[in-house]
Amino acid sequence: MRTAKPQARAQVAKLAKLAKLAKSPKSKKSARSASKPVRAAKVKQYVYFFANGKADGNRNMKDVLGGKGAGLAEMTNAGLPVPPGFTISTAVCNIYYEQHARIPAAIDREIDEHLKRLETAAGAKLGSTENPLLVSVRSGAKFSMPGMMDTILNLGLNDVAVEGLKQRTRNGRFAFDSYRRFIQMFGNVVLEVPKDAFEHEFDAVKRATGAKLDTDLDEAALRDIVERFKRIVLQRGGRDFPQDPSEQLKMARNAVFRSWMNPRAKEYRRIYDIPDHIGTAVNVQMMVFGNTGERSGTGVGFTRNPATGRKEFFGEFLINAQGEDVVAGIRTPQPIRELESVMPNAYKQLRDITTRLEKHYKDVQDFEFTIQDERLFMLQTRSGKRTGYAAVFIATDFVTEKLVTPKEAILLVDPESLNQLLAPGFDPDEWKRIPTATRGLPASPGAASGQVVFTADHAVEWTRQGKQVVLVRRETVPDDIHGMFVAQGILTATGGMTSHAAVVGRQMGKPSIVGAGGLQIDEAGRQFRIDGQTVKEGDYVSFDGLTGEVKLAQVASKPSEILQVVNGTLDASQSEIYRRFETLLSWADRYRRLGVYANADLPDQAELAYRFGAGGIGLCRTEHMFFGEGRIPIMQRMILADTEADRRTALNELLPLQRDDFSGVFKGMHGQPVTIRTIDPPLHEFLPKREDLMVDIARMEALGKSGSELDEKKRLLARVEQLHEFNPMLGHRGVRLGITYPEITEMQTRAIIEAACRLNKEGVKVVPEIMIPLVGTVKELRDQKTIVDRVAAETMKAEGVRVKYLVGTMIEVPRGSLVADQIAQEAEFFSFGTNDLTQLTFGFSRDDIGKFLKIYQDKKILEKDPFASIDVEGVGDLVRIGVERGRKGRPDLKIGICGEHGGDAASVHFFHSVGLDYVSASPYRVPVARLAAAQAALAVKVGD
Ligand code: ADP
Ligand code: MG
Ligand code: MG
Repeated sequence: MRTAKPQARAQVAKLAKLAKLAKSPKSKKSARSASKPVRAAKVKQYVYFFANGKADGNRNMKDVLGGKGAGLAEMTNAGLPVPPGFTISTAVCNIYYEQHARIPAAIDREIDEHLKRLETAAGAKLGSTENPLLVSVRSGAKFSMPGMMDTILNLGLNDVAVEGLKQRTRNGRFAFDSYRRFIQMFGNVVLEVPKDAFEHEFDAVKRATGAKLDTDLDEAALRDIVERFKRIVLQRGGRDFPQDPSEQLKMARNAVFRSWMNPRAKEYRRIYDIPDHIGTAVNVQMMVFGNTGERSGTGVGFTRNPATGRKEFFGEFLINAQGEDVVAGIRTPQPIRELESVMPNAYKQLRDITTRLEKHYKDVQDFEFTIQDERLFMLQTRSGKRTGYAAVFIATDFVTEKLVTPKEAILLVDPESLNQLLAPGFDPDEWKRIPTATRGLPASPGAASGQVVFTADHAVEWTRQGKQVVLVRRETVPDDIHGMFVAQGILTATGGMTSHAAVVGRQMGKPSIVGAGGLQIDEAGRQFRIDGQTVKEGDYVSFDGLTGEVKLAQVASKPSEILQVVNGTLDASQSEIYRRFETLLSWADRYRRLGVYANADLPDQAELAYRFGAGGIGLCRTEHMFFGEGRIPIMQRMILADTEADRRTALNELLPLQRDDFSGVFKGMHGQPVTIRTIDPPLHEFLPKREDLMVDIARMEALGKSGSELDEKKRLLARVEQLHEFNPMLGHRGVRLGITYPEITEMQTRAIIEAACRLNKEGVKVVPEIMIPLVGTVKELRDQKTIVDRVAAETMKAEGVRVKYLVGTMIEVPRGSLVADQIAQEAEFFSFGTNDLTQLTFGFSRDDIGKFLKIYQDKKILEKDPFASIDVEGVGDLVRIGVERGRKGRPDLKIGICGEHGGDAASVHFFHSVGLDYVSASPYRVPVARLAAAQAALAVKVGD
């Protein structure tokens, strides 16, 4: 007998290791929980039954049953028409890998007992020749992974049972249609025979019999196909098609467990941060048949439009079809509303049930159903994936409809998905000018423009070269996921609104159009034809995922509606989505405890941040102001000065400029706190590059030039060489500059306090917080604070007003966290600089990690980029220590964070949990942080 392929076997060994790892205590925390007596109590249940209105499980058991199993249990308990079955728990998946692809006998027995119960409930027997029980074997993990894993239908058929099925149903066509489907699915999933091999034979028979559609094939043709399929299995699968149903069942179950580790499932989990160790459940369920004839069918749908969020019954169905036919593009499915006229009773029942499900789950439901001889069966329900746009629409509608409270509505929107609402659209005038080449189904809204590529690999390759691409496919398959991820948009020629491209596109928030039938795609020739025109790989195409229009040109895009309102170019009353967005965020503000500030260096950024709802500025980087027009020469004079007196002269020139900058930023924040960091980067960053200077000098000398310009260059070069450091990021920067050149700190303090005093006199409220970077010892801070306080007092005296200000520090050197109690003696606030803190804790240079990060992630050494999402275990622990010790030193210490992590939803949850006062994010990520902070306060886990 053929066992798993070598590759699959290596996979299994790897997973066995992984499964052990997942169980071994990694940190003190998990060691504590592992020592709890979990195993002592009672014998573990591995199989859960559902039938006749009663299930062992329920909706809260996704960890154990997977999402699909939990949904089937919940629907069964609610008395809905669900075919009976049982769920083999996710724990068994891990056991399967731990035991090197074997299932312990005790679990096998538990499965057998449940199979007997299912046979009783179904009134049929697996393998019976007169009355065979047929089942589906379905994958289903805690988080839905559309199309990533495998499912097998019609299991239990063999050469004898198929005749029994024919006798019983008096429907030979149906019996053999079911059998050929089973052999193909089993052959492909279990024996790893490529689908093409079957499809090739299938098409051959269709051609030979003159059948246009699969439904045109009669019993004789289907019998022929069955024989051909069995031969393919023997030739390419290396064994006879197994006739013993219990062997079929075991093999199928194991194949589902194996599919958990197929490359596309792994890639999917990597993109969506789903851990490998949670495993998949296996659902074994009695078959119901949508392929018995014209009074049967199958379909999928949503209780609301998942692209726009509009309240409309949404979905598709096919008559005389089974399983995935609707999504696979076998025939063109009909819109679900047409079911009303075809089978009015089933339609009405379906609407009632799905409306009930939406109320029950308090969320949009994505459901699957099958109608067998006009009898409706529910096969799946789950929360529907939706675009960010739809999410906001639905959450606000639900509150209006009193389906949920505002508090519950907050939890219905994924914070990250709000970014989609800020993505640009096309300039409507330009868009109108270009003729529409074709139209498709608007599967996921948004504007996409880029160069055409035809494969996922090219999409990745070209994107790496800095190009923007649109992925054009006849239809996408789960293997395309990496290409879909990087593309600007996805355009397919076939498929409906629930096809793979549509579902995945919406989930990623990628503009997508599917079923653009006008495209004649020649994937091998890397081109498509449209209305007589040929479009080659690399040509430009643009499309609007909200309207479905496709155009053959590059089209400039335009800020999103929300951004237009925020920028003041569109009135809020003209934008429904803006109003809903704002309403949702105002609800979030009610529940969050964390403040949300923004990182903004310039007045217009501060203003933007304020309009996005920032409650202050957590980081204003003063050095960015030195790069402003006409300032660099003054800065350079300051750096080149040989004496303190010369340096002061240059600084005096900078003073009024800085004062105006601060004044603008203060005004932009309308009286909210503004945290200004004193100079941070090493001084060489303000000077020309050494190599450039050397080239200039050499050229001038070669041309025989001399005089003051050349002397100046030489002086500059000498200083640059003097300032050269081997590790500038660990060098003369941050507080170290302020200590060696106190006059810089003096000037900056004076500029800040003068700006504050003068605005104060104008009646503008200002709250400056002066922040000293890179502090590792309390003495560094004390040195700088003495200067700040002295200069502030002098300045206020001269200005004749007093303003309140704070002096604090960034905690970004690990030592700063460790001695935070001492530092807090001087600091009135802390702000964790998690970028530098991550850099210094890992010893990874932010600017160089790109070279090896991907490899680290592939090898699972790092799950996430620690510069994007906080490393909770290590860097996070330093934050925790800093908070604890800091508050010990000063109980009312104000604490925030101003690294990139402030705008990352998962990190925001962590910062909430360690008790920070605020997070500070880039202005565009302020909405994400507001919503994430509310969810953190309501204690939901990200991804749950
Ligand atoms: P996926 O997770 O990829 O959607 P499913 O396990 O839901 O896979 O099944 C694939 C298809 O087969 C779906 O269309 C589903 O409705 C259908 N199906 C699954 N089990 C049965 C069954 N017992 N009877 C009829 N159709 C089924
Ligand atoms: Mg499904
Ligand atoms: Mg820093």
